[in-house]
Amino acid sequence: DRIIGNQAQEDDIYLPPRIRPQALNEYVGQQGVREQLTMFIKAARQRQEALDHVLLYGPPGLGKTTLANIIAHEMGANLRQTSGPALERAGDLAAILTRLEPFDVLFIDEIHRLSPAVEEVLYPAMEDFRIDIVIGEGPAAQSVQLDIPPFTLVGATTRAGLLTMPLMDRFGIVHRLEFYSVEELSHIVTRAAHILGVDIEPAGAAEIARRARGTPRIANRLLKRVRDFAQVKGDGVITADLADAALNLLEVDPCGLDKMDRRLLEVIITQFDGGPVGIDSLASALGEEKGTIEEVIEPYLVQQGFVVRTPRGRSATDLAYGHLGLTRRD
Ligand code: ADP
Repeated sequence: DRIIGNQAQEDDIYLPPRIRPQALNEYVGQQGVREQLTMFIKAARQRQEALDHVLLYGPPGLGKTTLANIIAHEMGANLRQTSGPALERAGDLAAILTRLEPFDVLFIDEIHRLSPAVEEVLYPAMEDFRIDIVIGEGPAAQSVQLDIPPFTLVGATTRAGLLTMPLMDRFGIVHRLEFYSVEELSHIVTRAAHILGVDIEPAGAAEIARRARGTPRIANRLLKRVRDFAQVKGDGVITADLADAALNLLEVDPCGLDKMDRRLLEVIITQFDGGPVGIDSLASALGEEKGTIEEVIEPYLVQQGFVVRTPRGRSATDLAYGHLGLTRRD
């Protein structure tokens, strides 16, 4: 696993659960989403109604699951968690929906991967808080309508473009989560260090933040590794120098890129003359899956200006050449 991979990894679960913010005022950054949710939650509570359905999209590790937890907490409701691929049959979803309590939050991760049959169940559930179930088979089959409690669906996806229009239309609140600034990540790292009981200097937190690809999940993971380094090689205090040495050892470079990122840039530059190169050619040259490149590796490289996406493919920018110490051929 990449130390800076933004998918959840096994050792992330060894972080104390308190590191995940519980309330909106502990949630750092994403100001637009936070302000809107604060207002909508307050209004829903005053009216004693369920909060409107929320769709959150953006790269992994930016806090979608965390926000779903917070919404449930702020609504004083339970969180039920599932994912698109886990809901194989319509009955799987119907079983969850009928067991909800009023105002519960149902979190469906990877919602773009719902099967059409499961999606059909979701439409009337979202719109009218009812489900239509078919009992029996053949000519004797009967359709029965069941009321379900008012609930809030929080859908999360890394690929909003893959959602069907009827599903998209049923969300009242739609937000894209953005990469976090270094200041915001420093704040997150400092807070997590405090919870873990780790001594960290502000410059140490900033060094970790700068190299965390704009992603809280990665920031917390790097903090854990740097903490080990501080304990074994230092006196336990995370200073900027110590964080730098630890991250160099982990091969996370000063811009937060790892071997995989650098290889991607290098392949575009050396094998495709800087691009543009189509995603399929790039995937086969790297021996990586197309989806991994598009959803996991590339977004940060694009956001940081190392790669540009054009209709004809991906190109390496001057920044990428500079970062790898290569010069452009004329
Ligand atoms: P996603 O569901 O988008 O993949 P998560 O919600 O699981 O991401 O977030 C990954 C981790 O990052 C969480 O465990 C949490 O500790 C931390 N995190 C995410 N967003 C924030 C935030 N805004 N403030 C503080 N910590 C955050």
